[in-house]
Amino acid sequence: MAYDDSARAKVGVIIGALEELLGVPKQKREHPDPVELLIATLLSQHTNDRNSHRAFVSLKKEFPDWNDVLAAPAKRIASAIRIGGMADQKSLRIKEILRVLKKRYGSVDLSVLRDMDVDRGLEELQSLKGVGVKTAACVFLFSLRREVFPVDTHVHRVLNRLGVVTTKTPEKTFREMRGLVPPGTSYSLHTNLIRFGRLICRAQKPLCGSCPLYTVCEFPGKEEGRSRTLPSSRTPGEHRFMLLDNV
Ligand code: SF4
Repeated sequence: MAYDDSARAKVGVIIGALEELLGVPKQKREHPDPVELLIATLLSQHTNDRNSHRAFVSLKKEFPDWNDVLAAPAKRIASAIRIGGMADQKSLRIKEILRVLKKRYGSVDLSVLRDMDVDRGLEELQSLKGVGVKTAACVFLFSLRREVFPVDTHVHRVLNRLGVVTTKTPEKTFREMRGLVPPGTSYSLHTNLIRFGRLICRAQKPLCGSCPLYTVCEFPGKEEGRSRTLPSSRTPGEHRFMLLDNV
């Protein structure tokens, strides 16, 4: 389809421009365990990467084994993850997920995903309460290193402004992007779009005057945003810390 061809070409331009601006993101050699990645992603909801990382480290320090988390009262779990916010709600959710994993697979383990095709695995994860398609896709990309492109609010916003997709929700963007991301580029595009969305193409008052994608962008407000630029005291190296790279 012509639309797909032009969208694919635009995605290629975006990947190149962002890698030039922010560098080529590299995944660590070790693959984080899928259960750890799943819990870390849940902890990252409604907070920033630094606080969710602190919550994750604190949880692992208090409970080195997931079976210990499963056996612990929710209050103790909540107190370990307090810094990440919404601790009472998240502690109950984590306990419930671990309980279902143990019941479903006989242990708190998600190795079963390794042999599953991506669609089946995404469904399997989304059947867990509190796990949406973004979280499921993060487990597949960051832990299982499969070709999946997770879409969060930054990724959704930027791709819509650039005119790659015209969608109302991140879930719809996720579906539309399947087939548009060239093999081997999901990690780079996902990571750099988040950094770019935090640093330049911010939700409010994007810094269009510092944007390398200005000419291909279809956002109606870009003309007005051209007067805003990234202050020289700030660098594209900021916003590099991402929780899921540090599980
Ligand atoms: S021109 Fe502005 S709105 Fe468009 S992608 Fe760049 S920063 Fe975002």
